[in-house]
Amino acid sequence: MTLDFTYQASAARIVFGNGASGDVVKWVEALDCRRALVLSTPHQAADAQALSNRLGPLSVGTFTEATMHTPVDVTERAVARAAELGVDCVVSLGGGSTTGLGKAMAYRTDIQQIVIPTTYAGSEVTPILGQTENGVKTTVRSPKITPEVVIYDPQLTLGLPVGMSVTSGLNAIAHAAEGLYAPDRNPITTMMSIDGIRALKEALPALIDSPRDGAAREKALYGAWLCGTVLGQISMSLHHKICHTLGGSFDTPHAETHSIMLPHTIGFNASAVPELMTPISDIFGGATPGQALYDFAKSIGSPMALKDFGLSEADLDRAADIATRNPYSNPRPIDRTAIRALLQDAWSGTRPPY
Ligand code: NAD
Repeated sequence: MTLDFTYQASAARIVFGNGASGDVVKWVEALDCRRALVLSTPHQAADAQALSNRLGPLSVGTFTEATMHTPVDVTERAVARAAELGVDCVVSLGGGSTTGLGKAMAYRTDIQQIVIPTTYAGSEVTPILGQTENGVKTTVRSPKITPEVVIYDPQLTLGLPVGMSVTSGLNAIAHAAEGLYAPDRNPITTMMSIDGIRALKEALPALIDSPRDGAAREKALYGAWLCGTVLGQISMSLHHKICHTLGGSFDTPHAETHSIMLPHTIGFNASAVPELMTPISDIFGGATPGQALYDFAKSIGSPMALKDFGLSEADLDRAADIATRNPYSNPRPIDRTAIRALLQDAWSGTRPPY
């Protein structure tokens, strides 16, 4: 890489530490807010209520309908409820789905957001919102979408089930791996990519052995922050395009899709820019980056085949069409035949050739 770059730091204030979510009152007050609405999925409603209780008079209640892929009708209900209650900030407690709801509200109303992530998705540090209406998922970017404060408290991830920890962690690695060859990468994002991938590579196997290992949880969340920051600052390519296609048009689950596709897409691109992908080989070993990522994912119990998630072999033709229809930047030229072959390997769970 030549030293010729633009770097824009994220506007989000990052607070990291075991027990850090205990200071949530301080951060609501720091934003000069007095009427917070706590957001969560139905699954984490009890945790949201406990957080609302901790906020005491600073909370006006909870909204616990956050849903994967951020459906617009849910957002509209949340915005209406916030207006009724005179809310001046949201506190989003959960994974990318809950963060997505808070971001969707901020996109419409510019409301301030505090996010307390409990997965490794990385959405909390990006200015990107994906939302769904009438079965179509679209993506928008805006500075309004970036949360004001992100509180990373590893203790809140101790109960993240092992299966979700694995797929969510691989989802985070995917952001950083694509960051290594992004056309707008810079020395800072490359450093963050390498350190983020390394942290997750070390933490994920430790979590499988011992899901409540505090040091491993801390390292995994630290890696997730770095990888998410990379996602928010530079462009993504083939891997994210294919995962967006599969999730948006075939409703495959988000983190699992990233986990399955990762060795195939990164391997495919690594063959065009091997010098940029040496960090993957340094961190994972292996003959090639794609094979090394495949072996790692398999060793930590990741799902390996798209066919296990409701996708038929015939769907692969349409997925290849959608994913190659519009041009986008990618280190290796996008060729429909090659992408169809790559999808076939991911569908059947075959170790990639590159
Ligand atoms: P999720 O937020 O949908 O969470 C999955 C389930 O796990 C939910 O029921 C949730 O309540 C539960 N959960 C979360 N944390 C838990 C914990 N610690 N313990 C037990 N259960 C827990 O899953 P996700 O993978 O974090 O997020 C996926 C969504 O995020 C997708 O919609 C995706 O598009 C979006 N996303 C957006 C960006 C972006 O920058 N815009 C980046 C990454 C992901």
